[in-house]
Amino acid sequence: MSKTIGIIGAGPAGICAARRCYEAGYKDIKVFEQASDLGGIWLYSPEINGYSSMYEKLNTNGPKEFMSYEGFPVPDRDGSGRSFISRQDVFEYVKEFAAPIRQFIWIYLLYKEEPGKPKLQLPSNVVQLREVIDADSEGLILNDGQKLNDIDAVIYCTGYRYNFPFFDDSIVRTLEGGKIVTPLFEHVVHRDYLDSLFFIGIPLYSIFALLEEYQVKFALSLIQNRAKLPSRDEIDNWETNRIKELKARNLSLKFFHAFKEPHEQWDYYKRLAQYADVIYAVPNVYIKIDLMNRKFFDERVCTFKRVIYKIVNDEEFTWHDSEMDDYD
Ligand SMILES: Cc1cc2nc3c(=O)[nH]c(=O)nc-3n(C[C@H](O)[C@H](O)[C@H](O)COP(=O)(O)OP(=O)(O)OC[C@H]3O[C@@H](n4cnc5c(N)ncnc54)[C@H](O)[C@@H]3O)c2cc1C
Repeated sequence: MSKTIGIIGAGPAGICAARRCYEAGYKDIKVFEQASDLGGIWLYSPEINGYSSMYEKLNTNGPKEFMSYEGFPVPDRDGSGRSFISRQDVFEYVKEFAAPIRQFIWIYLLYKEEPGKPKLQLPSNVVQLREVIDADSEGLILNDGQKLNDIDAVIYCTGYRYNFPFFDDSIVRTLEGGKIVTPLFEHVVHRDYLDSLFFIGIPLYSIFALLEEYQVKFALSLIQNRAKLPSRDEIDNWETNRIKELKARNLSLKFFHAFKEPHEQWDYYKRLAQYADVIYAVPNVYIKIDLMNRKFFDERVCTFKRVIYKIVNDEEFTWHDSEMDDYD
């Protein structure tokens, strides 16, 4: 496993990519993050930073029962059993998921220290660098002229704002006022760099941990050259077909990367598992809870987060309303 993996963005998607690549045997992993720490939007600061739309009292909009990385259930941190956990709990959870590999990967913080802000105390595998302004066939170029070479695969994990400052338009660009990232196959891989350029976390209306797990499984199968891909024509026509499909459903192109109907995200994970030639391991009970949660959202938007779900087995769950009312 001599490939070097470059991951841009250390939110839940970048962390998932880093951990799963590490577990798959890649030991040379470099993560580039513009903020002062890992965590993505869940690294909350009351200062408006122009990036995150997180707010202080946010509770998740999906229940923790299915918002977990594989084999790493979200803990009941305050013992309340609540399903819709706080942003702090998600932040802790994501950081705990990163903890086993944190000391084994390189973390490059592209964070600008400003007068008055405390200086970061960094361990030896965390390096503070200037921001990435460009990329070429050998690697990434920083704004002080430094070059970081020898990256074989780039995994782009920068959240929902589709903005690619270091890619020339001839490589990656956005269409429809930033709603479509092109040219991709299945929202995740660049169709001209099928073994080396990936975008984790683009689709909207999905459950972050599941989306990231299945996209990373697919990316890894491509890096390892064992994916079961459709024909070249199907890959090249995927975007055109997706646009035709949206038009046939009378949906605007702003839904290009969105799973509008509930079944779309589950079908998507199943397809990615097939391409990656791995087991699709989403239990039916997740789908049932998701449907119930959407129904409650429609029927009782102000109180749907009071519901506490309990998974009984892969098919069944129970639910009841909690007495607590501190949900946003
Ligand atoms: C308010 C809010 C509430 C949400 N609630 C839920 C929920 O309850 N359940 C759910 O499943 N999902 C929820 N989401 C979706 C959310 O996007 C995911 O939870 C998850 O954070 C996505 O992870 P990510 O790593 O793709 O993106 P992010 O969390 O956005 O992380 C992206 C990271 O990339 C870094 N980055 C960006 N650009 C660059 C660059 N050029 N160079 C270096 N680093 C860069 C950022 O600093 C950030 O750390 C919510 C989103 C929002 C905005």
